[in-house]
Amino acid sequence: MPVVRIDPQHPEPELIEQAAALLRAGQLVAFPTETVYGLGANALDPEAVARIYAAKGRPAWNPVIAHVPSIVAARELSRAWPASAEQLATHFWPGPLTLVVPKAAHVPEISTAGLDAVAVRMPDHAVALALLTAAGVPVAAPSANRFTQVSPTTAAHVVQSLGDRVPLVLDGGPCAVGIESTVVDCTGDDVVILRPGMLGRESLQAALEEIGVFVKFATRPAVAHDATPDMAPRSPGMADRHYAPKAEVWLFDGAQANEVQDALAKRARDGTPGVRMHALLRSVSLASHDNHVASVTEVRMPDDASQYARALYAALHDADAAGAGLVLIEAPPEGDSRWDGVRDRLSRAAR
Ligand code: AMP
Ligand code: MG
Repeated sequence: MPVVRIDPQHPEPELIEQAAALLRAGQLVAFPTETVYGLGANALDPEAVARIYAAKGRPAWNPVIAHVPSIVAARELSRAWPASAEQLATHFWPGPLTLVVPKAAHVPEISTAGLDAVAVRMPDHAVALALLTAAGVPVAAPSANRFTQVSPTTAAHVVQSLGDRVPLVLDGGPCAVGIESTVVDCTGDDVVILRPGMLGRESLQAALEEIGVFVKFATRPAVAHDATPDMAPRSPGMADRHYAPKAEVWLFDGAQANEVQDALAKRARDGTPGVRMHALLRSVSLASHDNHVASVTEVRMPDDASQYARALYAALHDADAAGAGLVLIEAPPEGDSRWDGVRDRLSRAAR
């Protein structure tokens, strides 16, 4: 598939026009956003959106996010734009925040998986904004990867996952945020966090204080590690194994490093065929003891949540590319809300 380099700050107008023409013609274009790379299609064209589902192997019950270049364009997709949505869009757009609002009649069912609400977002990336403006249509764009796999944060990740399924990939370099947007439901009295992201509850609550709206999580107060099955239709990304490398994933607390080493040593003693192992670590090491785990490739991950998020998917893609059979991940610090988005993705990768 053609991969075209594009200037991430000042995208070349002729490249933008070429990509926009494909979108208007009902074709797919993969493009960078600040969160992850999106696989875009005209959100108002059911056949175009069907191409997204086919390319990703994404089940039809999983709705997609419509990307827009302005708040005005977002309002047009909603039959009743909530005050909470206006407040949040004004504060955080363009940015890594998706608003679920009552859908307008002209938004096709395939874009919302039959739900009466549509998810909208204005991304904070010059290429994405230029493309959305030039296309002149809202662009449905889930992450540009096969269903359940790790989301792409570089154009190379898109190519690895989707191969020849996309006619054009705009390569604008690595994504700055690195994990998917925070998704909030604005259709009720409270704003409900359906998917945590790097924009956290405290920030959302601060912005909604002046209009007296409360922000809560869809699941238990902390980020759920096992969302209940009945939540699946409401926000499908929550329930299944997702954001996952091909390898088995062990998520462990740094304090349990010795137990992990013991378990690895036991595997080695039991003659478990040697699998390649990648360990994403922040504070501990696994290779220090004399215990048969020398074959672990240790990846030192950042201690800062934002930097960690930016590096996470590339580290998981690297593990896949190296043929790792087991990925060991040191869990984020407990009780620190800045890590909610990362903790959510890791818990689902490990499921
Ligand atoms: P992705 O496009 O892979 O980043 O995933 C989009 C996610 O947005 C889905 O998994 C849902 O959690 C959420 N979403 C999209 N549309 C809706 C909607 N209409 N109602 C509730 N959640 C939605
Ligand atoms: Mg995805």
